[in-house]
Amino acid sequence: MKREGIAILGSTGSIGLSTLDVLRQHADRYRVVALTAFSQVERLFEQIREFRPEVAVMVDEAAAERLVDKVRKAGLATRVLAGAAALGEVAVMEAVDQIMAAIVGAAGLLPTLAAAEAGKRILLANKEALVMSGSLLLEAVQRSGARLLPIDSEHNAIFQCLPAHFERGLGQVGVQEILLTGSGGPFRELPLEDLAHVTPDQACAHPNWSMGRKISVDSATMMNKGLELIEACLLFQTTPDRIRIVVHPQSVIHSMVQYVDGSVLAQLGQPDMRTPIAHALAWPERMSAGVEPLDFYRVGNLEFQAPDPERFPALRLAENAARHGGTAPAILNAANEVAVAAFLEGRIRFTQIAELVEDVVNRIAATSATDLDTILAVDRRARAAARDWITHRSEDRHP
Ligand code: NDP
Repeated sequence: MKREGIAILGSTGSIGLSTLDVLRQHADRYRVVALTAFSQVERLFEQIREFRPEVAVMVDEAAAERLVDKVRKAGLATRVLAGAAALGEVAVMEAVDQIMAAIVGAAGLLPTLAAAEAGKRILLANKEALVMSGSLLLEAVQRSGARLLPIDSEHNAIFQCLPAHFERGLGQVGVQEILLTGSGGPFRELPLEDLAHVTPDQACAHPNWSMGRKISVDSATMMNKGLELIEACLLFQTTPDRIRIVVHPQSVIHSMVQYVDGSVLAQLGQPDMRTPIAHALAWPERMSAGVEPLDFYRVGNLEFQAPDPERFPALRLAENAARHGGTAPAILNAANEVAVAAFLEGRIRFTQIAELVEDVVNRIAATSATDLDTILAVDRRARAAARDWITHRSEDRHP
């Protein structure tokens, strides 16, 4: 059997590592063709040594020089490319059948779009790329006959619970509602007055999942669930009216679909990203992921709650952006990326993340245009407005 060629964009991150772990277990089915990172030389070098890809991309030029040196000294044949443009090159390589889009943030958009235009099968973890580009990415997928499979555990769960022909429209296939579950993050029960004083490390200590720092902060503000709401509207061609967010602290149910006859289908499993990764890689088949089976005796109880709008203002902001459509999600996403980076650097408080995003979305008028130039321009404008906010509010930045 011919082994499928895989490119992992963002191989040194949390999703990248989980993907390589699944591929390591199925070397007879898949071969790693390309790996990419931003600046982690040691980690990418170790991956090159183990998986022997044809190409590796290091976006940061200085880090790329160091990597070239190490690869040469080790006598490895992998070609090392530098710079962001090279990400697009590997995404469309002839030898690549599937690409794992696992770069964090807007930086993943262009290579993911290139893969979509080239008709590749895309395993989409990089939700920001879809949120900001909206129908643009989906149209590229449709035009080329590419396939987009969701890696986000919630969307992967929904995909598994929907009937095969959900593209006809959720109403047409008897779906009443999508139940998008989320743990509520580490601050679900923290007294509200303490939220302004939480540290980046506390925000990144997710109770159930081990993830990169940006998505961990998004989970703590529940902006992650907001981005997922937008992502679900796009992937499943629906509106926020048909999606209900349910706080489920145990993260055992990864999302559900409620049908008009009263049936609810749920996908359950360990909070381990190797499950959705293995599902999408092998789809429509199934293969082992190396994940422990779920032990219901140990799980015990499952709880469900409505999200608290006062604690999680980001949810309202994301829902507004989802309803508005056009460039609104791109503005929200750009402001949030800048705000989260500033929080992680200790420049703004945790509670200022949503304040900043709200100010930026109120200041920049969203339009209905969704061509690439408009999206990139509005992304730049929103980032500039967010940085401006940080500069002018810096006087009350420290707890
Ligand atoms: P990480 O921060 O752990 O990893 C990010 C990866 O992207 C790294 O390989 C990093 O390289 C690379 N990268 C960072 N910035 C750039 C850039 N400007 N250009 C090119 N590459 C870059 O993130 P996660 O793995 O946690 O998340 C990746 C994506 O998957 C996000 O969109 C997230 O929302 C989504 N996701 C993640 C989940 C998880 O469990 N982690 C669950 C569901 C979705 P380097 O290491 O060199 O910095």
